[in-house]
Formats: sequence, C-alpha cells, structure tokens
Amino acid sequence: MTSIVKEQLSLEEITVPGFHKIVKATHPGVGLKAIISIHDVRLGKAAMGGTRIYPYKTMEEALFDVTRLSRGMTHKSAIAQCGWGGAKSVIIADPKRDKTEELLHAFGEAVTRLEGLYICAEDSGCSPQDIAVIAEKTPYAVGLPHEKSSGNPSPFTAWGVFRGIQAVMHHLFGSDSVAGKTVAIQGVGSVGARLAELLFWHGAKIIVTDIHLDNAEGIAKQFGGKCVKPDEIFEQPCDVFAPCAMGGIIYSKNIDRLRCRAIAGAANNQLLSDADGQELHRLGILYAPDFLVNAGGLINVTEETYEKGYNPFIARNKIDEIYTQLKLIFKIASQKGISTQAAAMELVDYRLKYQSGRRASSIHMHHAEMSF
Ligand code: NAD
Repeated sequence: MTSIVKEQLSLEEITVPGFHKIVKATHPGVGLKAIISIHDVRLGKAAMGGTRIYPYKTMEEALFDVTRLSRGMTHKSAIAQCGWGGAKSVIIADPKRDKTEELLHAFGEAVTRLEGLYICAEDSGCSPQDIAVIAEKTPYAVGLPHEKSSGNPSPFTAWGVFRGIQAVMHHLFGSDSVAGKTVAIQGVGSVGARLAELLFWHGAKIIVTDIHLDNAEGIAKQFGGKCVKPDEIFEQPCDVFAPCAMGGIIYSKNIDRLRCRAIAGAANNQLLSDADGQELHRLGILYAPDFLVNAGGLINVTEETYEKGYNPFIARNKIDEIYTQLKLIFKIASQKGISTQAAAMELVDYRLKYQSGRRASSIHMHHAEMSF
C-alpha cells in the first residue's frame, strides 16, 4: 500500500448559507482537489452520499453540483426514512485518467478528518473497487466488497420502482395489478432491464428504448415488448413512463409530447425544475417523485450500518414501504390540491423540522482491519 504525506492534505471550510458544513480538500502532492458537502444533519449524526469523480472545469462548477446533489440526498433520506443526513462529495478528476491509489488514499484521509460526519459510497466515476481503496484510509465508507456488504444496489432499486408503479396503479385504477398495463422504459441498464423483467412476470406490456439500441431490442424480444428509438419514447401511449436513464428529461418543451397517465422511474432529478412538476399536475399526469421511487439502493446500503450487519430480507421489507410512502404523498397532494412533487417536499420539510425518522442507534461500520 502506498503512503501519502498527510501534512500536505489541507481542509478548508466554504460557507454556503443553509448548508451544515462544506469543506474543500486539497493535497498538492497527489493532485487531490475535492469538495465534501454536508447539507443537513437533522435526521442522523452522520450524513451519507456518494463520491462522484468528474473532470469539472472549475471549482464553482464542482461546488454547484455537489451542493445540489447533497441537498437531494437530504430529501431522499428524509422521504425514505433512512436516518441519514444528506451529503455528497466530488473529486475533480477524470476517472479514466487521473484516478490513482494515492489520490483515493488522500481523499480517504480527508473523509477520516471529518470524524464520521460524512460517510462516502460509490457514485458515477467511482466504483465499489475505488471505494475499497478509499476505505484503506477511512472507516467511513459503505458499499464495500466484504461479507457484510449489501452488494449491487440495482436489483433493490428496481424493486422499489416496481413497488412505486404498483402504488401508481392503485391510485389510478384502484388495484395494484400491472397486468395488461403498458410501461414505457427509457434506458435498459442495470435498473431498467430488471424493471422490464419484473413487469413482464407480473403481466405488464413493455415498451423500451436505449441509446444502445441492441440492448433494448434484446429486452423487447425476450419479454415480448416493443422497442423504439430513444427520441420516440416520450410520445408512446402508455400507462406509466419510467425514466431509467438520466436526469433533466422532463421539461417545458417535451411535456406536451408525453402520452402517459403517470411517471415513475429510477433516474435522479427527472424534472428539470419544480415548475415542471406543477405542469404535470395541471395536465393530469401523476408524477411519482423520483427521490422516493429510486430510494431502494439507499435503503439497501443503509442496512449495512446496523449492528447485526446487512440482512437482505429487512432491506426488501423496508423498500416495500416506498409503496406506502408514495400513497401518502398522493393523498397529501389530492387533499391540498397541489402537485405530488410539492406534496413530497412538504413531507420532507415536516420530517426535517420535527426530526421525524431520526436515527436513534449508532452507526456500525463493518470493515476489515484498518491500516492507518
Ligand atoms: P446504467 O448506466 O446501468 O443504465 C442507464 C441506461 O440508460 C444505459 O443502458 C444507457 O445506455 C441508457 N441511456 C443513457 N442515455 C439515454 C437516452 N438518452 N435514451 C435512452 N437510454 C439512455 O444506470 P442504472 O444503474 O440502471 O441507473 C439508471 C438511472 O437510475 C440513473 O439515472 C441512476 O442515477 C439512477 N439510479 C440508479 C440507482 C441504482 O441502484 N443503480 C439508484 C438510484 C438512482
């Protein structure tokens, strides 16, 4: 294992109103430039969120992204009742070129200096293997390859999306059943492909697309679905549109193209702005807020941090609650005549204000022996 010169690591606080703590971590010796943003800790002593490795052009761009993402984690944890504060971190580096053991170690050292306030996990550009390298320098990391680990989150996320679709069905048709209903899935990667399979076995019809059209064609063939080109997915007549590719896909210019009764999918930040949630409400399209529907992965990894260690049955049962929480949001929205996105945010604000769902137990990090 390599050793880094710890004296060269410096942590400097950045003040942003409304944020609990933001630090810039630099280590000139290994070229580390990172920001750790802890948005809110009212629901848990520790704040959790992935580490994104991306070649941001400027520090301002990185700060914008990490603050936005950490705020989203606060919402997700509150709505899914995971008992975490919301946080995120970014390392300004090209994951294909700049990712060295020394860089990851220096980042791990920075996480350690926050003394458990921040817990890191995989994210785009940062694989579970990278987290394992980071964890050689910090105990504050989850999603590691060890026997008490929660493993691949995608099947659990897909199950959460499926439960969300069942709640949508119940709201629209008075029954959870997806049999005979049509779901259009944008993106058949780790989550989308699993969702397609779950829907098939429960009797639904699927329409799929992907920029890797071969993959979508394969899924369509296997499950008797229809495959369309990426741009055609928006205007497919269907009961549910399930975005499972990327964020920011629902915005003013394409909302009119939608021919679905509801939207429920895995992608983060599906709405480009809150106004789009309002517009969906006006058009009578039922929107299942993404930060609840896609919380299965977060709920799953949270289970790692209880004393007894990870138990997939408990994780599955907690993910089932996405169904109940979504119905609660639909009820609040109906009663108040507001959009489901606004209702979800009201629920988040309430839980943060009254610390409802705050984690009482301490957090256990199940790691192999540390080497400091
Ligand atoms: P993935 O990378 O495995 O799959 C995404 C798929 O979308 C890929 O097959 C890609 O080719 C396709 N795609 C990209 N752009 C597209 C476009 N414009 N049109 C159609 N297809 C396109 O990712 P994933 O793990 O399946 O996650 C899907 C989404 O859900 C992501 O937004 C991710 O952030 C979010 N999410 C995933 C998890 C999880 O547990 N994996 C948890 C929470 C949220």
